[in-house]
Amino acid sequence: MVAIIGGGAAGFFCAVNAAKRNSQLRVIILEKSNKLLAKVRVSGGGRCNVTNACQSIEEMIKNYPRGQQFLRKTFHHFFTSDTVDWFTSRGAHLKTEPDGRVFPVTNSSATIIECLISEAVKFNVEILTNRRVLNILPVGSQFELQIEGHPSLLCHYVCVACGGFPKAEMFDWLTRLGHQIEDPAPSLFTFNLDQHAITDLQGVVVNDVQIKIAGSQLRERGPVLITHWGFSGPCILRLSAWGATELKRRGYEFEININWLPAESNHEILAKIQLTREESGFRSVESKNPFGLPQRLWSFLVAFSDLSIKTKWAELKAKEQRRLIANIGGSLFKVKGKTTFKEEFVTAGGLRLSQVDHNTMQSKLIKGLYFAGEILDVDGLTGGFNFQHAWTSGFLAAKAIANNV
Ligand SMILES: Cc1cc2nc3c(=O)[nH]c(=O)nc-3n(C[C@H](O)[C@H](O)[C@H](O)COP(=O)(O)OP(=O)(O)OC[C@H]3O[C@@H](n4cnc5c(N)ncnc54)[C@H](O)[C@@H]3O)c2cc1C
Repeated sequence: MVAIIGGGAAGFFCAVNAAKRNSQLRVIILEKSNKLLAKVRVSGGGRCNVTNACQSIEEMIKNYPRGQQFLRKTFHHFFTSDTVDWFTSRGAHLKTEPDGRVFPVTNSSATIIECLISEAVKFNVEILTNRRVLNILPVGSQFELQIEGHPSLLCHYVCVACGGFPKAEMFDWLTRLGHQIEDPAPSLFTFNLDQHAITDLQGVVVNDVQIKIAGSQLRERGPVLITHWGFSGPCILRLSAWGATELKRRGYEFEININWLPAESNHEILAKIQLTREESGFRSVESKNPFGLPQRLWSFLVAFSDLSIKTKWAELKAKEQRRLIANIGGSLFKVKGKTTFKEEFVTAGGLRLSQVDHNTMQSKLIKGLYFAGEILDVDGLTGGFNFQHAWTSGFLAAKAIANNV
């Protein structure tokens, strides 16, 4: 018998694959809440970004701030195309969006949930909700699972697929087994500003900026969205993921430097200003924006550079021009706090990967103990990467457990 702790993506994928591969194996899912696949349901804004269309393992692993070497090996066994085949061959048809994200054609996470539940029913997976596992005790070659408010359960194999935990002490029941953890930190969040005028520009998107975090090597390029509390968008989410540990250490208070025109050199910016002075000197700086930046942002940058709204290009003083160029190439903002990104968030950190066999997901310390999903020290950017790790690790644990019996 195998007990799978956690009725989320990784737990279900492990359960249904193990039960299908070995009909002799009794498979039980123990879920602490009264809900199954709760994160799958809300994932991707209710659409469930199942995986990513990336076909190259080397390209794929670049999307994981933690766990790259481990994934390079696990993805060889079960990759994005295997995920697509797995779901489509069971009637859950998928489509790829232009940015590579893969969703059910129905645009509803219910399609994925129904597919997983119907596989579980088909292969007699037993599902027990309201079963919080408190302790795993190795007893001879078996395990005794202590369950809150219920009698203990004895099983031959355990797969821990209980997701990420935000605090180190929440891992105590696993570290008692000798496993070590990398300290958890939230990932995939947006940056808050403390009452800054730029938040009046909420809704403005700039498609190509470069953002650096002062006092670190962290820098990203891509789209940014100005919100009523600060900054969001892919560039910010990537910074939050790569900087998850560092930004937690700084208490989410740091400075960012935004280059609003990273594609243009200082020389090119100066040349465009010169041309505008010559051709449109009679126009106000605020009304004649030579760089194609969104007009609301341009007006903000003009005001932020202490230029009067009436200043004409021909009248722009050298020091005013220097201030404007400096702000285009590097506006400084003080970040104070973060906001969870509603579409997708994960916990960085988790069980140390060096103690887990990447071929089987089995603990290197305790035979018969397996891990899958976000509990491991693996996390990805947004784009279907986190689910792909859940499917891959769940599949590998299932295969190893089913073959053992
Ligand atoms: C809002 C949101 C949207 C997301 N959208 C996407 C997306 O579109 N694409 C993507 O790739 N990723 C997405 N993610 C990330 C993705 O959902 C997770 O990485 C993934 O669900 C991890 O799967 P898991 O099975 O490891 O953990 P979980 O899904 O967290 O499941 C773990 C389960 O274990 C149970 N559990 C915990 N402790 C115990 C215990 N002691 N005993 C018994 N049961 C226990 C929990 O109740 C839970 O049901 C999103 C995350 C969030 C929060």
